[in-house]
Amino acid sequence: MIYFVGAGPGDPRLITVKGKELLEQADVVVYAGSLVNPQLLEWCPSQARIFNSASMCLEEIVGVLEAAHRAGETAVRLHTGDPSLYGAVREQMDALDREGIPYQVVPGVSSFLAAAASLRKEYTLPGVTQTVILTRLEGRTAVPEREEIRSLAAHQATMAVFLSAGQIERLCALLMEEYPPDTPAAVVYKASWQDEKIVRGTLRDIAGKAREAGIHRTALILAGDFLGDSYELSRLYDRSFSHGYRRAQEPGGTEGHVGGPGEETPGCREDGGMAHG
Ligand code: SAH
Repeated sequence: MIYFVGAGPGDPRLITVKGKELLEQADVVVYAGSLVNPQLLEWCPSQARIFNSASMCLEEIVGVLEAAHRAGETAVRLHTGDPSLYGAVREQMDALDREGIPYQVVPGVSSFLAAAASLRKEYTLPGVTQTVILTRLEGRTAVPEREEIRSLAAHQATMAVFLSAGQIERLCALLMEEYPPDTPAAVVYKASWQDEKIVRGTLRDIAGKAREAGIHRTALILAGDFLGDSYELSRLYDRSFSHGYRRAQEPGGTEGHVGGPGEETPGCREDGGMAHG
């Protein structure tokens, strides 16, 4: 079987249990050498054949996977973060589809999630924004015109910008056409790696600060008021608000006690069962 596996953002312990188990039984591994932490490969059996995709073209990568399939071997194609974001995974899956070769995809922790964890922030805050925009500036890969940064910035939602650290000055200039220049911004370099760096500032000064810190690549640029300090408290944990798993408490109810007598609180659904969060 062939598995496309998300390696996670860098810290080898941030791969999924399933991803690690597949590495442990892999006969062949093709990993994205530029961004996947090589420590992950230590979980592979010593006889596993390991290929670094950085120096391979699509046909070579697919050729290795196909050969493993024909030999009845387990092949893992290890992508950084989650394969579904800027992973060029679709073209590999389509090539296997054309040959009728089956495969599975195992998701991973994307770097933008690791960045929120490193910043100790929440992307979606009541009263601030309920939307996260994942995007990039065009590089060698074009971005459709209707998705130009300015039009996305008009929402003033949370923005996580991939693959653009090398053009951070231009990015911030474009963002400042819509967001106020004092909008908080951050750059997270190599989130979850041992040499992670975090730079905080505003859209006005973050580019200079990132350059001073020597950051030119392998970084996410984050912008929006989610990085600020004002927001509304959630309804989900509001003691005066009932939802599918918890009844509202009378004012002056027992401190720290949630749920009525004998009521099981198996954990809230993300929207707490409320029609409107
Ligand atoms: N599939 C990956 C993204 C691959 S594109 C994911 O889900 O994260 C490569 C870009 O991702 C880099 O240019 C950078 O913007 C971002 N990136 C990947 N790993 C990162 C990390 N550990 N810290 C910060 N940014 C990272």
